[in-house]
Amino acid sequence: MKSFHHVNVKTTREAVKLLSKHEGKAKLLAGGTDLLGSLKDKILPDYPEAIINIKTIPGLDYIKEDAKGLKIGALAKLADIAKSPLVKEKYKLLAEAAEAVATPQIRNMGTIGGNICQDLRCWYYRYPHQVGGRILCYLKGGKGCYALTGENEYHSIFGEPE
Ligand SMILES: Cc1cc2nc3c(=O)[nH]c(=O)nc-3n(C[C@H](O)[C@H](O)[C@H](O)COP(=O)(O)OP(=O)(O)OC[C@H]3O[C@@H](n4cnc5c(N)ncnc54)[C@H](O)[C@@H]3O)c2cc1C
Repeated sequence: MKSFHHVNVKTTREAVKLLSKHEGKAKLLAGGTDLLGSLKDKILPDYPEAIINIKTIPGLDYIKEDAKGLKIGALAKLADIAKSPLVKEKYKLLAEAAEAVATPQIRNMGTIGGNICQDLRCWYYRYPHQVGGRILCYLKGGKGCYALTGENEYHSIFGEPE
């Protein structure tokens, strides 16, 4: 893993400012369960210039309800959503979905924001660089998408809506 510039931010405004300063070359870090693995396996086409840690922003892990419905902060952990009495009682499907993700360790670290924004789960794209070399798929600048004609039974969406 290469060394990288790591910044702990205290506000969302600070995070957005840094993202903009790095012009697409910085990455937000929440629980790190997806991002750090991708960096170690050299999956991202370009290594980020900076990692912006948003876990240091206070108050973004809320799970609450108001007149408009359920509100969940981006830093709420999957484990906390799964065991929240409010979610379990009134939004049972969501509690069950959060409980079904990965392993207890991942759910204790992984946030809902990171879950929604996680990188693509395609085993060709995710193939680790250090095991027999990089698979240069379409998303990494190659010409073809191996999932189109290869093992794709667990994939959900190809292409874009017309
Ligand atoms: C072994 C394993 C099994 C898994 N199984 C499942 C599964 O069964 N089902 C499933 O749904 N997922 C699964 N996952 C994915 C897991 O849910 C995610 O790794 C986790 O939710 C990511 O959350 P995080 O906080 O750690 O994100 P991070 O790793 O910190 O970030 C992930 C990505 O989201 C971006 N990001 C994070 N927070 C924000 C934000 N607030 N705003 C904008 N961008 C943001 C980061 O920049 C990064 O690109 C699995 C992961 C592993 C490692």
